[in-house]
Amino acid sequence: MYNVKAYSAVSETSPLASTTIPRREPKEYDVQIEILFCGICHSDLHSARNEWSGTVYPIVPGHEIVGRVTAVGSGVTRHKPGDLAAVGCMVDSDGTCAHCKEGLEQYCPNVILTYNSPDKHLDGVTYGGYSDSIVVDERFVLRVPSTLDLAATAPLLCAGITTYSPLRHWGVTKGKKVGVVGIGGLGHMGVKFAHAFGAHVVAFTTSSDKKEDALRLGADEVVISRNTDEMEKHTGSFDFILDTVSANHDINAYLNLLNRDGNITLVGAPPQPLAVAAFALIPRRNSLSGSTIGGIPETQEMLDFCGEHNITCDVEVIPIQKVNEAYERLLKSDVKYRFSIDMASLKER
Ligand SMILES: [Zn+2]
Ligand SMILES: [Zn+2]
Repeated sequence: MYNVKAYSAVSETSPLASTTIPRREPKEYDVQIEILFCGICHSDLHSARNEWSGTVYPIVPGHEIVGRVTAVGSGVTRHKPGDLAAVGCMVDSDGTCAHCKEGLEQYCPNVILTYNSPDKHLDGVTYGGYSDSIVVDERFVLRVPSTLDLAATAPLLCAGITTYSPLRHWGVTKGKKVGVVGIGGLGHMGVKFAHAFGAHVVAFTTSSDKKEDALRLGADEVVISRNTDEMEKHTGSFDFILDTVSANHDINAYLNLLNRDGNITLVGAPPQPLAVAAFALIPRRNSLSGSTIGGIPETQEMLDFCGEHNITCDVEVIPIQKVNEAYERLLKSDVKYRFSIDMASLKER
């Protein structure tokens, strides 16, 4: 065991502050990574403030981790010191259930999340990426294409895979008409990926000032969702819609836009249950579903795809000392489109 610098919250009302946390010495199949950048996900804020309940304090958030390998255990074959590496939302799973066997570890009932999950190596819970280094089983360590900007790569590990996976699952390709609802941390990546897959992309946003940005990100059209005339023009025309909105909203307005056998997948989590009208689903055999991140094989596929197509997130890089300020701005959606913490700042203090 060794100690590393980190930022943690000690209660749901405390700001994040500098601390030290233990990490295990790398075991046979472990990879030790010096963390270079860590994205800020809205889940970090929800967890730090116990908004989903179940937070164990102190909590060290962060599951969009990019860094450099500093040591590996004797059994590690896929990574070596000096390599770039990444860790997303998961650090372990049972490896034996049907989901794990299909490479869909995110659906494993025994998945161990990167932070605030029981730590089977050390007492207590897992600690995330707002820290100097992390030690992770090689099965959960991803390779990072060397051509990508690392600060802008970090959020691919959650925001990226969360949007990439459902677009792939629902067969988004050239010739499909795809909607992305909400242009934020998730939505801006949804637009980039859907565009890269060759689809005709329509971005839905409530704020007209995001129109130019959505077009720049790769949207073919932008619809201001408050404008019912604009919405109605698209009735019955979409193959797939990715809904990234985490505020309460009228899902029926979007279900009505689906073509026959169209699907809407939710990746945002509104606090209230959505009211779904049966007749928004029945007449065109439509479906409404959800999706969470992606498995390790697909996360690697996404990173490789991003390397080939030079896709990264739009980020604002901040020092760790500004993390509390960043949380406040996140609540106001005042970021284009993801914060990425430069972990070199943690050495300053
Ligand atoms: Zn996340
Ligand atoms: Zn499993």
